[in-house]
Amino acid sequence: MKDCLFCKIVAKEIPAEIVYETGRTLAFRDIDPKAPTHVLVIPKEHHADAAALAEADDGLTDEVLKTAHAVAVLDQVAESGYRVVFNTGPAAGQTVFHTHAHVLGGRDLTWPPG
Ligand code: AMP
Repeated sequence: MKDCLFCKIVAKEIPAEIVYETGRTLAFRDIDPKAPTHVLVIPKEHHADAAALAEADDGLTDEVLKTAHAVAVLDQVAESGYRVVFNTGPAAGQTVFHTHAHVLGGRDLTWPPG
């Protein structure tokens, strides 16, 4: 989608540190990491948020979650524990309106989030 930051990363128009890729998903390091592992997993096709993705394509939602787990294994945080977060909508803190899962790990994470 034109003017979507993450669509531009998919199109390689904007650089990103890509750590994993499948046919329909892309994982790259967050530019402002909040934990030693902080990777964003996105569907390559544009969906505004997690709700839109879930309504549009169950299979792709599944692939995003599987990619998140693959990233945790690659970054060696799967055993110690990690968090997968979809900020969905402005009140939840979503700032980029292309569905993305935050994969966070490598330190003790507190609960509840702010
Ligand atoms: P959210 O607030 O849930 O929408 O998360 C958006 C995330 O995208 C934030 O954690 C940002 O640090 C991250 N971000 C913004 N621009 C880039 C970029 N060019 N490359 C990687 N991550 C980015």
